[in-house]
Formats: sequence, C-alpha cells, structure tokens
Amino acid sequence: MQPQARVILKKGKEESLERFHPWVFSGAIDRIDGTLEEGDLVSVQKSDGKIIAFGHCAIGSIAVRVFSFGEEVPADSFWKHRIEQAYELRQKTGLADATDTNVFRLIHGEGDGMPGLIADYYNGTVVLQFHTVGMWLVREAIVQALRDVLGKKLVAVYDKSAKTLPFKADIQAKDGYLFGKSSAGEVIEYGNKFKVDWEEGQKTGFFIDQRDNRRLLSEYAKGKDVLNMFCYTGGFSFSAMRGGANLVHSVDSSAKAIELTNRNVELNFPGDTRHEAFVADCFDYLQDIKDKYDLIILDPPAFAKHRGALSQALQGYKRLNANAFRQIKPGGILFTFSCSQVVTRNNFREAVFSAAAIAGREVRILHQLSQPVDHPINIYHPEGEYLKGLVLFVT
Ligand code: SAH
Repeated sequence: MQPQARVILKKGKEESLERFHPWVFSGAIDRIDGTLEEGDLVSVQKSDGKIIAFGHCAIGSIAVRVFSFGEEVPADSFWKHRIEQAYELRQKTGLADATDTNVFRLIHGEGDGMPGLIADYYNGTVVLQFHTVGMWLVREAIVQALRDVLGKKLVAVYDKSAKTLPFKADIQAKDGYLFGKSSAGEVIEYGNKFKVDWEEGQKTGFFIDQRDNRRLLSEYAKGKDVLNMFCYTGGFSFSAMRGGANLVHSVDSSAKAIELTNRNVELNFPGDTRHEAFVADCFDYLQDIKDKYDLIILDPPAFAKHRGALSQALQGYKRLNANAFRQIKPGGILFTFSCSQVVTRNNFREAVFSAAAIAGREVRILHQLSQPVDHPINIYHPEGEYLKGLVLFVT
C-alpha cells in the first residue's frame, strides 16, 4: 500500500492517536503534503515528521480514519490479515461454527480495526456496507480477502452502500453483487427462522445486534401479554412466543415491516393465533393501551443521527418511555433500547429515569444491556458502544 499524501498534525495534536483513538479531526491538521482526494490512503505524521499512523481521508470533521498505527507502511496482505482476525473472533466466541445460528456480523468497523466497513454474514452471503470512500475504493481487495478467509463458507458478496457512502463524495455507487449471486434467504438465530432480504430490507436486512437481547426476552415471556413496538422483522415477537407468551402484539409504522413480521411468525409458528400485528405509529399507539400489557419492548430507530440532534432525541426517548411506564401493568417488565451512537449510556439512563418519574412509577433495573460479541467495542474508541438497553421491573 502506498500512501498518496502526508497529513501533518499540529504540535501536540498526536495525543489521542498515541492512545490509539482511530480518528483524526480536521482541526488537528497543520498541513497536507501532496494533493488529497476523498478516500486517499494517507500517512499521519507528528509535527516533527515522525509517522504515527495510516488511514483513509475524508472530507468532513473526521478527516482521517486510521486503520494502522505505527510507522510501518501496511503490507498488501493487510486487509486479509484484518479479516482473518475478525473471523477468528467470531470462531473463538462460538458464532462462526454455531449449529443453531448462521447469521452474524463479521466486520464491525472500528471494533474490528476497519473503520468505514460493516460486513454481515447471512448463511453464506456477506452483505457489505461501506461508510467511507477509502474503504469502498479497496473493495476488490476486501472481496478477495473474504474469499480467501471464508473459502467454501462464502457463496456471494453483496454491496449495499448506495445509501451509506457519504453523498458529498459523488461517486454514484450502485448496490449489487461483487462476487457470486444469491437471493433473499432464510437464516436461523438460536433456532428461530428469519426471512432476510438484503437487497430490499433496512440496513443489511436484519438487526443482528439484538440477538442476545431477544433471547433474554424469551426467558421473561412465559404467560405474558407482550407488546413489541418498532417490530421490523418481528424478532422480539417470536422470541416472546418461543418463551411461551400468552399473546403478542407487534407494531411498526411500515406496512412492509408488518408483512415481514407476519411472514416470520408464520415461518416459526404456523397457524399460531397468539400473534397479531398492526401498522401504526408507536407514539400514537402508546397513547391508549390502558393496562393491557405486562411486557413491553421499545426498540426504536436511532433518534439522533448526529450530535446536533441529541437533546431532541432525549426528549423523544423520555416521551416514549413515559407513555410505556404510565400504562404497563403493575409488576410488568419493560425492555427499552437506544441505538443512537451519540446518546451515551448515561444520557439514556437519565432519559428513562425522567420518564419513570413523570409517570410516577416505582422502577427497578434488572439488566443493563449492550451489543453482542460480534459487535465488539474497540476499547480506544468508546464511540463504538452504540446499543444501550435497560430491562426494568415496574411496580
Ligand atoms: N426491533 C427491531 C428493529 C427495529 S428497527 C428488531 O429487533 O429487528 C426500527 C423500526 O422502527 C423500523 O422497522 C421502522 O419502520 C420503525 N419505525 C420508525 N419510526 C416509527 C414510528 N414512529 N412508529 C412505528 N414504527 C416506527
């Protein structure tokens, strides 16, 4: 790999890189040697010229996303090595060879030392989402590395980046297969079946990150009347059914999501009448549920996509949770989540705390939830901890 330009930092601005934080903000840059284009591979140097990292540059406040620290220029085998490391983690944690689960995240951006890249494995098909031009430009090397590392376990690679690449880059990426071909398929997670459509579905087709939380839910579901808000594929719904729920209602504002939920429920529990799904806005639906439910799941989309939206997002979480607290049956259990990266664990907990106070309910925390092992958090990059959840006992 040959760097196309050199980024020289202002004096003293190397500190966070020396602590292995993988982002260089534009304000930390003193000057650039060479001409720079979005996505270029650059070396990052201290003001005295010493090379300390290599990364991809981008136009924006995060000017460089570092994937390699130190002065050594990354070898051509670098991506393969990173993917081997990522795969090894999924093997060591039992996911890659599990018999009851064949869907997992294989590459989780900074968490796997590959900022700007997400790769999800769906029973043979890897769905890629590039979030930086730099990663997108090396996509052929990534696909080759995936083929080398996964061997026969890889059937196809689908690139779904048209919507995730920075629009300012103007590269007009199209979604499509980069290797092989497959079509929407069926996957299993802890024995539960899901239809996944990576070509048409949201994100890469499925929210893999709630796997362990869905399983935990099933442990609490026995005999309960369950409300699953923002249900999308219905994962929490049939986890509740698997756990012996008495009835399960699923709500989503998207008719497509409700169709998918119904299909998935039918796949797992053909003819089971315990489940019903409704197309509705969850904020409206929660206005008037009286005390019908004793287990409620709130798993909304990210309310804050950037820091500027933080306070509005916190208001949203507060309002949503307050409505659930007001109406859940005494002795009920609330599973509540935030997947906004800019909302910290404390922010979220405070919003839920305020919601409980507004509703005037007695609330105890049973579990504090996070993302699963295939969404690892790089300890030097705390921003990578995006999924936060609380399981609450409401008296
Ligand atoms: N819980 C899901 C993931 C939720 S994704 C799972 O485990 O897979 C968020 C979902 O919220 C999307 O399906 C989206 O259609 C839905 N949504 C967004 N805003 C909504 C609203 N105001 N009311 C109802 N559903 C909404």
